[in-house]
Amino acid sequence: MSKNLYALFQSRFPQDMSADFIKSPDGRNLSYQELDQQTAQMAGALIALGTKTGDRIAVQVDKTKEAVVLYLACLRVGAVYLPLNTAYTADELDYFMGDARPHIMVCTPEKHKNLSPVAQKNSVSHLLTLGSKATGSLMDQFQRATPHIEIADVTGDDLAAILYTSGTTGRSKGAMLSHDNLASNATVLHKYWGWVPDDILLHALPIFHVHGLFVAIHCVLMNGSGMWFLPKFDAAEMIALIPKSTVMMGVPTFYTRLLDQPEFDRSTCQNMRLFISGSAPLLEDTFVRFEKLTGMTILERYGMTEAGMITSNPLNGDRIAGTVGYPLPGVEARLSTETSNQDAGVLEIKGPNVFKGYWKMPEKTAEEFTPDGYFITGDIATISADDRVAIVGRAKDLIISGGYNVYPKEIEQVIDAIDGVKESAVIGVQHPDFGEAVVAVIVADNTKNIDQEDVTANLKGQLARFKQPKNIFFTDELPRNTMGKVQKNVLRQDYADLYK
Ligand code: ATP
Ligand code: MG
Repeated sequence: MSKNLYALFQSRFPQDMSADFIKSPDGRNLSYQELDQQTAQMAGALIALGTKTGDRIAVQVDKTKEAVVLYLACLRVGAVYLPLNTAYTADELDYFMGDARPHIMVCTPEKHKNLSPVAQKNSVSHLLTLGSKATGSLMDQFQRATPHIEIADVTGDDLAAILYTSGTTGRSKGAMLSHDNLASNATVLHKYWGWVPDDILLHALPIFHVHGLFVAIHCVLMNGSGMWFLPKFDAAEMIALIPKSTVMMGVPTFYTRLLDQPEFDRSTCQNMRLFISGSAPLLEDTFVRFEKLTGMTILERYGMTEAGMITSNPLNGDRIAGTVGYPLPGVEARLSTETSNQDAGVLEIKGPNVFKGYWKMPEKTAEEFTPDGYFITGDIATISADDRVAIVGRAKDLIISGGYNVYPKEIEQVIDAIDGVKESAVIGVQHPDFGEAVVAVIVADNTKNIDQEDVTANLKGQLARFKQPKNIFFTDELPRNTMGKVQKNVLRQDYADLYK
Protein backbone atom coordinates (compact mmCIF):
# COMPACT_ATOMS: atom_id res chain seq x y z
CA MET A 1 0.00 0.00 0.00
CA SER A 2 1.13 3.55 -0.67
CA LYS A 3 2.61 5.35 2.32
CA ASN A 4 0.31 8.25 1.60
CA LEU A 5 -1.73 9.08 4.70
CA TYR A 6 -4.79 9.59 2.53
CA ALA A 7 -4.54 5.98 1.33
CA LEU A 8 -4.58 4.86 4.97
CA PHE A 9 -7.74 6.88 5.60
CA GLN A 10 -9.33 5.56 2.42
CA SER A 11 -8.71 2.00 3.60
CA ARG A 12 -10.77 2.84 6.70
CA PHE A 13 -13.78 4.36 4.91
CA PRO A 14 -17.08 2.78 5.97
CA GLN A 15 -18.81 0.21 3.82
CA ASP A 16 -21.80 2.50 3.52
CA MET A 17 -20.22 5.51 1.86
CA SER A 18 -23.40 7.55 2.26
CA ALA A 19 -22.65 7.74 5.99
CA ASP A 20 -21.81 11.20 7.30
CA PHE A 21 -18.21 12.15 7.91
CA ILE A 22 -19.00 15.76 8.84
CA LYS A 23 -22.26 16.60 10.55
CA SER A 24 -23.26 20.20 10.89
CA PRO A 25 -26.12 21.60 12.97
CA ASP A 26 -27.14 23.67 9.92
CA GLY A 27 -27.45 20.51 7.84
CA ARG A 28 -24.40 21.14 5.63
CA ASN A 29 -23.14 17.59 6.08
CA LEU A 30 -20.46 15.76 4.12
CA SER A 31 -20.73 12.04 3.50
CA TYR A 32 -17.74 9.77 2.97
CA GLN A 33 -18.77 9.48 -0.66
CA GLU A 34 -18.71 13.27 -1.02
CA LEU A 35 -15.45 13.48 0.90
CA ASP A 36 -13.69 11.11 -1.47
CA GLN A 37 -15.17 12.76 -4.55
CA GLN A 38 -14.49 16.32 -3.39
CA THR A 39 -10.91 15.68 -2.29
CA ALA A 40 -10.28 14.23 -5.77
CA GLN A 41 -11.83 17.29 -7.36
CA MET A 42 -9.87 19.65 -5.09
CA ALA A 43 -6.74 17.66 -5.95
CA GLY A 44 -7.57 18.29 -9.61
CA ALA A 45 -7.82 22.02 -8.90
CA LEU A 46 -4.46 22.05 -7.12
CA ILE A 47 -2.80 20.25 -10.00
CA ALA A 48 -4.38 22.62 -12.52
CA LEU A 49 -2.78 25.44 -10.52
CA GLY A 50 0.61 23.85 -11.08
CA THR A 51 1.05 22.24 -7.65
CA LYS A 52 3.86 19.71 -7.50
CA THR A 53 4.89 17.19 -4.85
CA GLY A 54 6.45 18.98 -1.89
CA ASP A 55 4.92 22.39 -2.69
CA ARG A 56 3.59 24.17 0.36
CA ILE A 57 -0.07 25.20 0.42
CA ALA A 58 -0.51 27.83 3.13
CA VAL A 59 -4.03 28.20 4.48
CA GLN A 60 -5.52 30.77 6.81
CA VAL A 61 -9.28 30.30 6.68
CA ASP A 62 -12.33 29.80 8.86
CA LYS A 63 -13.17 26.34 10.08
CA THR A 64 -15.32 24.80 7.34
CA LYS A 65 -15.76 21.42 5.71
CA GLU A 66 -14.16 22.87 2.56
CA ALA A 67 -11.00 23.53 4.59
CA VAL A 68 -10.94 19.87 5.63
CA VAL A 69 -11.39 18.85 1.99
CA LEU A 70 -8.48 21.12 1.05
CA TYR A 71 -6.24 19.54 3.70
CA LEU A 72 -7.00 16.01 2.51
CA ALA A 73 -6.60 17.05 -1.13
CA CYS A 74 -3.08 18.26 -0.31
CA LEU A 75 -2.29 14.80 1.05
CA ARG A 76 -3.70 13.23 -2.08
CA VAL A 77 -1.41 15.18 -4.40
CA GLY A 78 1.64 14.96 -2.13
CA ALA A 79 1.65 18.70 -1.38
CA VAL A 80 2.56 20.00 2.08
CA TYR A 81 -0.39 21.44 4.02
CA LEU A 82 0.48 24.49 6.05
CA PRO A 83 -2.35 25.80 8.23
CA LEU A 84 -2.07 29.13 9.99
CA ASN A 85 -3.77 30.51 13.07
CA THR A 86 -6.67 32.72 12.00
CA ALA A 87 -5.58 35.35 14.51
CA TYR A 88 -2.33 36.13 12.67
CA THR A 89 -2.15 39.60 11.11
CA ALA A 90 -0.76 40.48 7.67
CA ASP A 91 2.57 41.42 9.30
CA GLU A 92 2.82 38.08 11.01
CA LEU A 93 1.87 36.27 7.80
CA ASP A 94 4.72 38.04 6.08
CA TYR A 95 7.10 36.12 8.35
CA PHE A 96 5.38 32.78 7.70
CA MET A 97 5.24 33.26 3.94
CA GLY A 98 8.81 34.45 3.76
CA ASP A 99 9.79 31.39 5.75
CA ALA A 100 7.65 28.77 4.03
CA ARG A 101 7.52 30.18 0.48
CA PRO A 102 4.21 28.55 -0.38
CA HIS A 103 3.12 27.90 -3.95
CA ILE A 104 -0.47 28.71 -3.06
CA MET A 105 -1.87 30.78 -0.21
CA VAL A 106 -5.55 30.51 0.65
CA CYS A 107 -7.14 33.20 2.82
CA THR A 108 -10.64 34.47 3.62
CA PRO A 109 -12.20 36.88 1.09
CA GLU A 110 -12.04 39.67 3.71
CA LYS A 111 -8.26 39.39 4.01
CA HIS A 112 -7.46 39.19 0.31
CA LYS A 113 -6.74 42.90 -0.14
CA ASN A 114 -4.41 43.12 2.85
CA LEU A 115 -2.52 40.01 1.90
CA SER A 116 -1.99 40.72 -1.79
CA PRO A 117 1.22 42.74 -1.29
CA VAL A 118 2.51 40.15 1.20
CA ALA A 119 1.89 37.31 -1.26
CA GLN A 120 3.54 39.25 -4.06
CA LYS A 121 6.58 40.12 -1.98
CA ASN A 122 7.09 36.46 -1.10
CA SER A 123 6.59 35.13 -4.65
CA VAL A 124 3.44 33.19 -3.85
CA SER A 125 2.16 31.97 -7.24
CA HIS A 126 -1.56 32.08 -6.36
CA LEU A 127 -3.40 33.93 -3.63
CA LEU A 128 -6.88 32.39 -3.49
CA THR A 129 -9.86 32.85 -1.21
CA LEU A 130 -12.19 30.54 0.66
CA GLY A 131 -15.21 31.96 2.47
CA SER A 132 -17.21 30.44 5.28
CA LYS A 133 -20.08 29.43 2.95
CA ALA A 134 -18.07 27.65 0.24
CA THR A 135 -17.47 30.89 -1.67
CA GLY A 136 -14.25 32.40 -3.03
CA SER A 137 -11.79 31.95 -5.88
CA LEU A 138 -10.55 28.58 -4.62
CA MET A 139 -14.09 27.26 -4.96
CA ASP A 140 -14.29 28.66 -8.51
CA GLN A 141 -11.18 26.63 -9.36
CA PHE A 142 -12.74 23.64 -7.63
CA GLN A 143 -15.98 23.90 -9.62
CA ARG A 144 -14.03 23.90 -12.87
CA ALA A 145 -11.61 21.11 -11.98
CA THR A 146 -11.49 17.55 -13.27
CA PRO A 147 -11.29 15.05 -10.41
CA HIS A 148 -7.83 13.62 -9.87
CA ILE A 149 -8.52 10.17 -8.43
CA GLU A 150 -4.94 8.99 -8.21
CA ILE A 151 -3.17 9.21 -4.84
CA ALA A 152 0.41 10.47 -4.99
CA ASP A 153 2.91 7.73 -4.33
CA VAL A 154 4.99 9.20 -1.54
CA THR A 155 7.50 7.66 0.84
CA GLY A 156 6.71 7.55 4.55
CA ASP A 157 9.35 10.22 5.14
CA ASP A 158 7.87 12.69 2.67
CA LEU A 159 6.28 15.72 4.26
CA ALA A 160 2.54 15.84 4.74
CA ALA A 161 2.37 19.08 6.66
CA ILE A 162 4.30 21.90 8.21
CA LEU A 163 2.66 23.01 11.40
CA TYR A 164 3.88 26.08 13.22
CA THR A 165 4.17 25.75 17.00
CA SER A 166 1.90 27.93 19.12
CA GLY A 167 4.62 30.45 19.90
CA THR A 168 4.03 30.26 23.65
CA THR A 169 7.72 30.48 24.51
CA GLY A 170 9.01 32.52 21.57
CA ARG A 171 8.69 32.83 17.83
CA SER A 172 6.75 29.98 16.18
CA LYS A 173 8.82 27.31 14.48
CA GLY A 174 7.62 25.25 11.51
CA ALA A 175 7.55 21.58 12.46
CA MET A 176 7.96 19.25 9.46
CA LEU A 177 5.64 16.25 9.79
CA SER A 178 5.84 13.27 7.48
CA HIS A 179 3.11 10.92 6.29
CA ASP A 180 4.53 8.24 8.61
CA ASN A 181 4.63 10.62 11.59
CA LEU A 182 0.92 11.32 11.24
CA ALA A 183 -0.11 7.79 10.26
CA SER A 184 1.64 6.17 13.22
CA ASN A 185 0.12 8.57 15.73
CA ALA A 186 -3.37 8.24 14.24
CA THR A 187 -3.18 4.44 14.32
CA VAL A 188 -2.00 4.36 17.93
CA LEU A 189 -4.56 6.88 19.24
CA HIS A 190 -7.46 5.20 17.49
CA LYS A 191 -6.61 1.95 19.24
CA TYR A 192 -5.51 3.40 22.59
CA TRP A 193 -8.74 5.33 23.10
CA GLY A 194 -10.82 2.31 22.14
CA TRP A 195 -12.84 3.82 19.28
CA VAL A 196 -15.96 1.83 18.47
CA PRO A 197 -17.87 1.80 15.15
CA ASP A 198 -20.65 4.20 16.09
CA ASP A 199 -18.56 6.77 17.94
CA ILE A 200 -19.43 10.36 17.13
CA LEU A 201 -16.91 13.06 17.95
CA LEU A 202 -17.91 16.53 19.05
CA HIS A 203 -15.41 18.82 17.32
CA ALA A 204 -15.25 22.44 18.46
CA LEU A 205 -11.48 22.98 18.30
CA PRO A 206 -9.69 25.13 15.73
CA ILE A 207 -8.23 23.18 12.80
CA PHE A 208 -4.94 25.05 12.43
CA HIS A 209 -3.44 23.23 15.39
CA VAL A 210 -2.32 19.63 16.03
CA HIS A 211 -5.19 19.01 18.48
CA GLY A 212 -8.14 19.83 16.24
CA LEU A 213 -6.57 18.99 12.88
CA PHE A 214 -4.64 15.80 13.51
CA VAL A 215 -5.69 14.25 16.82
CA ALA A 216 -9.40 14.85 16.40
CA ILE A 217 -9.98 14.50 12.65
CA HIS A 218 -7.56 11.61 12.18
CA CYS A 219 -9.24 9.56 14.90
CA VAL A 220 -12.60 10.03 13.17
CA LEU A 221 -11.15 9.06 9.78
CA MET A 222 -9.43 6.00 11.25
CA ASN A 223 -12.81 5.06 12.68
CA GLY A 224 -14.71 5.73 9.46
CA SER A 225 -17.41 7.42 11.53
CA GLY A 226 -18.82 10.92 11.92
CA MET A 227 -18.23 14.13 13.83
CA TRP A 228 -20.26 17.17 14.75
CA PHE A 229 -18.24 20.02 13.32
CA LEU A 230 -18.72 23.39 15.03
CA PRO A 231 -17.01 26.56 13.78
CA LYS A 232 -16.05 27.37 17.36
CA PHE A 233 -16.83 26.60 20.99
CA ASP A 234 -20.26 27.84 21.97
CA ALA A 235 -21.46 26.58 25.35
CA ALA A 236 -25.16 26.40 24.44
CA GLU A 237 -24.44 24.58 21.21
CA MET A 238 -22.13 22.17 23.00
CA ILE A 239 -24.79 21.34 25.55
CA ALA A 240 -27.25 20.68 22.74
CA LEU A 241 -24.84 18.35 20.91
CA ILE A 242 -23.14 16.45 23.75
CA PRO A 243 -26.22 14.18 24.09
CA LYS A 244 -25.82 13.31 20.38
CA SER A 245 -22.11 12.54 20.67
CA THR A 246 -19.94 9.91 22.33
CA VAL A 247 -16.46 11.48 22.40
CA MET A 248 -15.35 15.06 23.01
CA MET A 249 -11.85 16.50 22.73
CA GLY A 250 -11.21 19.83 24.34
CA VAL A 251 -8.72 22.22 25.83
CA PRO A 252 -9.09 22.76 29.60
CA THR A 253 -11.09 25.97 29.10
CA PHE A 254 -13.84 23.95 27.34
CA TYR A 255 -14.33 22.07 30.59
CA THR A 256 -14.33 25.10 32.87
CA ARG A 257 -16.78 26.86 30.56
CA LEU A 258 -19.10 23.87 30.50
CA LEU A 259 -18.98 23.70 34.29
CA ASP A 260 -20.05 27.35 34.40
CA GLN A 261 -23.34 26.50 32.66
CA PRO A 262 -26.21 25.74 35.04
CA GLU A 263 -27.89 23.52 32.40
CA PHE A 264 -24.84 21.28 32.11
CA ASP A 265 -25.20 18.21 34.31
CA ARG A 266 -25.07 14.44 34.52
CA SER A 267 -28.04 13.96 32.19
CA THR A 268 -26.29 15.97 29.43
CA CYS A 269 -23.53 13.37 29.39
CA GLN A 270 -25.58 10.17 29.39
CA ASN A 271 -24.47 9.08 25.92
CA MET A 272 -20.88 10.15 26.30
CA ARG A 273 -18.14 7.55 26.35
CA LEU A 274 -15.04 9.70 26.62
CA PHE A 275 -13.99 13.26 27.47
CA ILE A 276 -10.40 14.01 26.48
CA SER A 277 -8.37 17.06 27.50
CA GLY A 278 -5.04 18.43 26.36
CA SER A 279 -2.94 21.30 24.91
CA ALA A 280 -2.55 22.89 28.34
CA PRO A 281 -2.55 21.55 31.90
CA LEU A 282 -5.95 20.58 33.28
CA LEU A 283 -6.39 21.89 36.81
CA GLU A 284 -7.07 19.24 39.41
CA ASP A 285 -10.03 21.33 40.57
CA THR A 286 -11.61 21.09 37.09
CA PHE A 287 -11.00 17.33 36.93
CA VAL A 288 -12.63 16.82 40.35
CA ARG A 289 -15.59 19.14 39.77
CA PHE A 290 -16.29 17.55 36.40
CA GLU A 291 -16.24 14.07 37.90
CA LYS A 292 -18.54 15.09 40.74
CA LEU A 293 -21.07 16.75 38.47
CA THR A 294 -21.17 14.31 35.56
CA GLY A 295 -19.79 11.06 36.95
CA MET A 296 -17.26 11.07 34.09
CA THR A 297 -13.50 11.13 34.49
CA ILE A 298 -11.68 13.37 32.03
CA LEU A 299 -8.86 11.59 30.22
CA GLU A 300 -5.86 13.91 30.02
CA ARG A 301 -3.15 13.38 27.45
CA TYR A 302 -0.01 15.29 26.51
CA GLY A 303 1.52 16.18 23.19
CA MET A 304 3.05 18.87 21.07
CA THR A 305 3.23 20.11 17.49
CA GLU A 306 6.58 18.39 16.95
CA ALA A 307 5.40 14.93 17.96
CA GLY A 308 1.63 14.74 17.99
CA MET A 309 0.52 12.81 21.04
CA ILE A 310 3.21 11.52 23.37
CA THR A 311 1.53 10.23 26.54
CA SER A 312 -2.03 9.49 27.58
CA ASN A 313 -3.96 8.45 30.62
CA PRO A 314 -5.41 4.99 30.10
CA LEU A 315 -8.84 4.19 28.71
CA ASN A 316 -9.20 1.38 31.24
CA GLY A 317 -7.36 1.93 34.47
CA ASP A 318 -6.82 4.95 36.65
CA ARG A 319 -6.91 8.40 35.14
CA ILE A 320 -5.07 10.51 37.65
CA ALA A 321 -5.46 14.28 37.89
CA GLY A 322 -2.21 16.18 37.46
CA THR A 323 -0.66 13.38 35.41
CA VAL A 324 -0.66 12.85 31.66
CA GLY A 325 -0.49 9.06 31.80
CA TYR A 326 1.85 6.64 30.09
CA PRO A 327 4.04 6.97 27.00
CA LEU A 328 1.92 5.81 24.06
CA PRO A 329 2.85 2.48 22.44
CA GLY A 330 6.00 2.97 20.35
CA VAL A 331 7.08 6.07 22.26
CA GLU A 332 10.15 5.93 24.50
CA ALA A 333 10.33 8.60 27.18
CA ARG A 334 13.07 9.43 29.65
CA LEU A 335 14.30 12.36 31.74
CA SER A 336 17.43 14.24 30.78
CA THR A 337 20.45 13.01 32.68
CA GLU A 338 21.74 16.55 32.90
CA THR A 339 19.08 17.66 35.32
CA SER A 340 20.14 16.39 38.70
CA ASN A 341 17.49 18.24 40.66
CA GLN A 342 15.26 15.87 42.68
CA ASP A 343 13.38 13.53 40.40
CA ALA A 344 12.11 16.07 37.86
CA GLY A 345 13.93 16.54 34.58
CA VAL A 346 13.48 17.61 30.99
CA LEU A 347 11.46 15.02 29.11
CA GLU A 348 13.15 13.44 26.09
CA ILE A 349 11.28 11.26 23.63
CA LYS A 350 11.82 8.96 20.68
CA GLY A 351 9.27 7.33 18.39
CA PRO A 352 7.76 7.15 14.91
CA ASN A 353 5.65 10.22 15.74
CA VAL A 354 8.64 12.54 16.25
CA PHE A 355 8.96 15.14 13.51
CA LYS A 356 11.61 15.53 10.81
CA GLY A 357 12.95 18.80 12.13
CA TYR A 358 12.20 22.52 12.04
CA TRP A 359 11.66 23.91 8.58
CA LYS A 360 14.78 25.77 7.38
CA MET A 361 16.35 25.60 10.85
CA PRO A 362 18.90 22.77 10.74
CA GLU A 363 20.90 24.20 13.64
CA LYS A 364 17.89 24.65 15.88
CA THR A 365 16.81 21.11 14.98
CA ALA A 366 20.23 19.70 15.87
CA GLU A 367 20.13 21.51 19.22
CA GLU A 368 16.82 19.94 20.12
CA PHE A 369 17.98 16.34 19.67
CA THR A 370 20.35 14.40 21.92
CA PRO A 371 23.33 12.59 20.36
CA ASP A 372 21.42 9.30 20.64
CA GLY A 373 18.42 10.64 18.77
CA TYR A 374 15.94 11.68 21.47
CA PHE A 375 13.90 14.84 20.95
CA ILE A 376 14.23 17.29 23.85
CA THR A 377 10.65 18.39 24.50
CA GLY A 378 11.47 21.38 26.69
CA ASP A 379 8.88 20.23 29.23
CA ILE A 380 9.94 19.32 32.75
CA ALA A 381 8.38 16.09 33.95
CA THR A 382 8.50 13.34 36.52
CA ILE A 383 8.16 9.66 35.65
CA SER A 384 6.91 7.35 38.40
CA ALA A 385 8.20 3.83 39.00
CA ASP A 386 5.28 2.44 36.96
CA ASP A 387 6.06 4.82 34.05
CA ARG A 388 3.38 7.41 34.67
CA VAL A 389 4.37 10.87 33.45
CA ALA A 390 3.45 14.18 35.10
CA ILE A 391 4.31 17.52 33.50
CA VAL A 392 5.79 19.86 36.07
CA GLY A 393 6.20 22.84 33.76
CA ARG A 394 8.26 24.14 30.88
CA ALA A 395 12.03 24.34 31.10
CA LYS A 396 11.78 27.93 29.90
CA ASP A 397 9.48 28.77 32.83
CA LEU A 398 11.78 27.23 35.44
CA ILE A 399 12.80 29.90 37.94
CA ILE A 400 16.26 29.95 39.43
CA SER A 401 16.10 32.12 42.52
CA GLY A 402 19.15 32.53 44.71
CA GLY A 403 20.60 29.42 43.09
CA TYR A 404 17.57 27.27 43.87
CA ASN A 405 15.35 25.71 41.22
CA VAL A 406 11.74 26.74 41.67
CA TYR A 407 9.01 24.95 39.70
CA PRO A 408 6.17 27.42 39.12
CA LYS A 409 3.53 24.69 38.96
CA GLU A 410 4.23 23.55 42.52
CA ILE A 411 3.58 27.04 43.80
CA GLU A 412 0.58 27.59 41.55
CA GLN A 413 -1.04 24.44 42.92
CA VAL A 414 -0.68 25.65 46.51
CA ILE A 415 -2.02 29.11 45.62
CA ASP A 416 -4.93 27.69 43.60
CA ALA A 417 -6.03 25.69 46.63
CA ILE A 418 -6.49 28.86 48.70
CA ASP A 419 -10.12 29.84 49.26
CA GLY A 420 -11.08 32.71 46.98
CA VAL A 421 -8.45 31.96 44.32
CA LYS A 422 -9.59 30.96 40.84
CA GLU A 423 -6.18 30.45 39.25
CA SER A 424 -2.66 31.75 39.26
CA ALA A 425 0.55 32.02 37.28
CA VAL A 426 3.97 32.10 38.87
CA ILE A 427 6.88 33.64 36.97
CA GLY A 428 10.51 34.57 37.49
CA VAL A 429 11.40 38.26 37.26
CA GLN A 430 14.96 39.58 37.03
CA HIS A 431 16.20 40.62 40.45
CA PRO A 432 19.54 42.21 41.41
CA ASP A 433 20.17 39.93 44.41
CA PHE A 434 18.41 36.69 43.60
CA GLY A 435 19.00 36.49 39.86
CA GLU A 436 15.29 35.86 39.52
CA ALA A 437 12.57 36.57 42.02
CA VAL A 438 9.40 34.50 42.33
CA VAL A 439 6.32 36.55 41.44
CA ALA A 440 2.71 35.37 41.56
CA VAL A 441 -0.15 36.73 39.49
CA ILE A 442 -3.53 35.70 40.84
CA VAL A 443 -7.12 35.73 39.57
CA ALA A 444 -9.63 35.80 42.43
CA ASP A 445 -12.89 33.87 42.12
CA ASN A 446 -14.82 36.58 43.99
CA THR A 447 -16.39 34.16 46.46
CA LYS A 448 -14.40 35.84 49.17
CA ASN A 449 -12.31 38.95 49.72
CA ILE A 450 -8.63 38.09 49.62
CA ASP A 451 -5.53 40.23 49.41
CA GLN A 452 -1.78 39.89 49.21
CA GLU A 453 -1.37 39.40 52.94
CA ASP A 454 -3.88 36.54 53.07
CA VAL A 455 -1.98 34.72 50.37
CA THR A 456 1.42 35.36 51.96
CA ALA A 457 0.20 34.14 55.33
CA ASN A 458 -1.30 31.05 53.77
CA LEU A 459 1.85 30.09 51.89
CA LYS A 460 4.17 30.58 54.84
CA GLY A 461 3.65 27.22 56.48
CA GLN A 462 3.36 25.37 53.17
CA LEU A 463 6.33 26.39 51.06
CA ALA A 464 10.03 26.75 51.74
CA ARG A 465 11.06 30.37 52.03
CA PHE A 466 12.88 30.48 48.68
CA LYS A 467 9.70 29.38 46.92
CA GLN A 468 7.46 32.00 48.46
CA PRO A 469 6.60 34.83 46.05
CA LYS A 470 8.43 38.09 46.69
CA ASN A 471 5.51 39.92 45.14
CA ILE A 472 1.88 39.04 44.56
CA PHE A 473 -0.42 40.75 42.08
CA PHE A 474 -4.11 40.38 41.36
CA THR A 475 -5.52 40.55 37.86
CA ASP A 476 -8.91 39.95 36.20
CA GLU A 477 -7.66 37.44 33.67
CA LEU A 478 -4.43 35.65 32.73
CA PRO A 479 -3.18 36.28 29.17
CA ARG A 480 -3.98 33.19 27.08
CA ASN A 481 -3.52 32.27 23.44
CA THR A 482 -6.20 30.59 21.32
CA MET A 483 -5.28 27.12 22.57
CA GLY A 484 -5.91 28.21 26.14
CA LYS A 485 -2.24 28.32 27.05
CA VAL A 486 -1.16 30.90 29.61
CA GLN A 487 1.36 33.22 27.98
CA LYS A 488 4.01 33.55 30.63
CA ASN A 489 6.27 35.45 28.25
CA VAL A 490 3.64 38.21 28.23
CA LEU A 491 3.51 38.22 32.03
CA ARG A 492 7.30 38.25 32.29
CA GLN A 493 7.33 41.27 30.01
CA ASP A 494 4.62 43.03 32.03
CA TYR A 495 6.62 42.71 35.23
CA ALA A 496 10.13 42.92 33.76
CA ASP A 497 10.95 46.25 35.42
CA LEU A 498 9.69 45.35 38.87
CA TYR A 499 13.10 45.26 40.55
CA LYS A 500 15.01 47.61 38.29
P1 ATP B 1 6.17 27.09 21.28
O1 ATP B 1 6.86 25.77 21.14
O2 ATP B 1 6.13 27.86 20.02
O3 ATP B 1 6.65 27.89 22.44
P2 ATP B 1 3.92 25.57 22.33
O4 ATP B 1 4.95 24.65 22.86
O5 ATP B 1 2.89 26.07 23.28
O6 ATP B 1 4.60 26.82 21.61
P3 ATP B 1 2.37 23.53 21.03
O7 ATP B 1 3.17 22.58 20.26
O8 ATP B 1 1.02 23.91 20.55
O9 ATP B 1 3.17 24.89 21.12
O10 ATP B 1 2.16 23.02 22.51
C1 ATP B 1 2.90 21.98 23.08
C2 ATP B 1 3.07 22.23 24.56
O11 ATP B 1 1.80 22.28 25.21
C3 ATP B 1 3.84 21.14 25.27
O12 ATP B 1 5.23 21.26 25.10
C4 ATP B 1 3.38 21.34 26.71
O13 ATP B 1 4.13 22.35 27.35
C5 ATP B 1 1.94 21.83 26.55
N1 ATP B 1 0.96 20.75 26.82
C6 ATP B 1 0.24 20.03 25.95
N2 ATP B 1 -0.57 19.16 26.58
C7 ATP B 1 -0.36 19.34 27.89
C8 ATP B 1 -0.89 18.76 29.08
N3 ATP B 1 -1.83 17.83 29.04
N4 ATP B 1 -0.41 19.20 30.27
C9 ATP B 1 0.54 20.15 30.34
N5 ATP B 1 1.06 20.75 29.25
C10 ATP B 1 0.62 20.36 28.05
MG1 MG C 1 6.78 24.01 22.09
